Amino acid sequence: MSAAEIGRGLRAGNFTSVEVTKHFLERIDHAGKQLNAFITVTPERAIADAARADARIARGEGGPLTGVPLAHKDIFCTEGVLTSCGSRMLSNFVAPYDATVVERLAAAGMVMLGKTNMDEFAMGSSNETSWYGPVRNPWDGTKVPGGSSGGSAAAVAARLAPVATGTDTGGSIRQPGALTGLTGFKPTYGRVSRYGMVAFASSLDQAGVLAQSAEDAALVLGAMAGHDARDSTSVAVPVPDYAAGLGRSMKGLRIGVIREFFGEGLEEGTGRAVRAALEGFSAMGATIVELSLPNLPLSVPTYYVVAPAECSSNLSRFDGVRFGHRCKDPRDLLDMYKRSRGEGFGAEVKRRIMTGTYVLSAGYYDAYYLKAQKVRSLINADFRRAFSEVDVLMGPTTPTPAFAIGAKVDDPITMYLNDIYTIGANLAGLPAVSVPCGLVEGLPVGLQIIGPHFAEERLLAAAHSWQLVTDWHRKLPPMFA
Ligand code: GLN
Repeated sequence: MSAAEIGRGLRAGNFTSVEVTKHFLERIDHAGKQLNAFITVTPERAIADAARADARIARGEGGPLTGVPLAHKDIFCTEGVLTSCGSRMLSNFVAPYDATVVERLAAAGMVMLGKTNMDEFAMGSSNETSWYGPVRNPWDGTKVPGGSSGGSAAAVAARLAPVATGTDTGGSIRQPGALTGLTGFKPTYGRVSRYGMVAFASSLDQAGVLAQSAEDAALVLGAMAGHDARDSTSVAVPVPDYAAGLGRSMKGLRIGVIREFFGEGLEEGTGRAVRAALEGFSAMGATIVELSLPNLPLSVPTYYVVAPAECSSNLSRFDGVRFGHRCKDPRDLLDMYKRSRGEGFGAEVKRRIMTGTYVLSAGYYDAYYLKAQKVRSLINADFRRAFSEVDVLMGPTTPTPAFAIGAKVDDPITMYLNDIYTIGANLAGLPAVSVPCGLVEGLPVGLQIIGPHFAEERLLAAAHSWQLVTDWHRKLPPMFA
């Protein structure tokens, strides 16, 4: 059942939240280890929250999500619960407060099952950089689930949780969503508060959701979005009733197809599935226009200057003094800094910190960081131009379906190219969603839909219309059906 269906069943009295929660905890018990999807499971707290939700429902209070379980990516601070961010550095960090996202979803009555595995500090596209080990793709255990929200994706795909939170700095919701057959929604930058979400690249990070359907994404997004005085980049734009907007017709919708997304590097089966989806939209009355966004191919190199620059600054707080890992018996202050950071961070995080420090250093700032910011403006302008002609942009989410665990770990550039179609939306702060649109040799493929700022409703309606005429989003990994 989807989150929405569980919510309806709870309100109809067909089952209780405690029963539903126990069902998911049992599934986690059976399959959680095999997939390595969770870093922490919180059964006692989940049952207690579920009992409270049941009481609320019995009083006739609560909303569509009250009593519905969920899993949180381990990047969100959860009071009294380990918040590791997939890193040894934070493997001893019990957060003293809840992130706004966590707080709001709890206020909606949702029940937290636990915290999901992720790439270390959300840096990765395969969930192989986690200190807690790689996550396996429920569709094929030898394949990656994508990253960095790989644990959340695997958990929802295997129905260990009906829905889960994620974060997307360069594709980390959409890419794992595509690789595991889910609806992965990344909102407009500023739509959802970043308070209590461990920072990776602050001008790109955005929280969102990994769900079974556009309807579920609409419900959960509606509950987590909105202005928060504790995040100065969160925007005071009213949150529409996303679920109410799902029924919009596709007639007359102008869809731009990004020419640059269909070039070399796009695996054949993926390209075929995405083109078939475009035909599907055209059958629903949308018009398709081919467009060029000439600066978009520069998004990967631009991102890999901007994101490491911001991460090198954000991660400087992990110094072994205030919180996080501290080395044993430091000789002096410098020794403590060096060894605490040396031991606490993994290889990919160190690579990013070094790159970031380099591009921000006095002699190289103009040549790299400033140049990247200029290219970022050009990419922004490309999108603005496109959205003066069309309502949404569509294309593939990823160049290929899920790849084998270990296949790309030794080659960072190849790994970085996984996000070639997703990073543009982050650089421009745009909302985007990936929806399942086919299977290639038994592995899911995603269609990406990108919209202008704050066009979440339009994207959700497009995703929902697609899901009314297809059943790709209902397919389960055979091993978990
Ligand atoms: N894969 C990209 C990276 O490694 C994006 C990660 C993300 O969106 N958090 O940085």
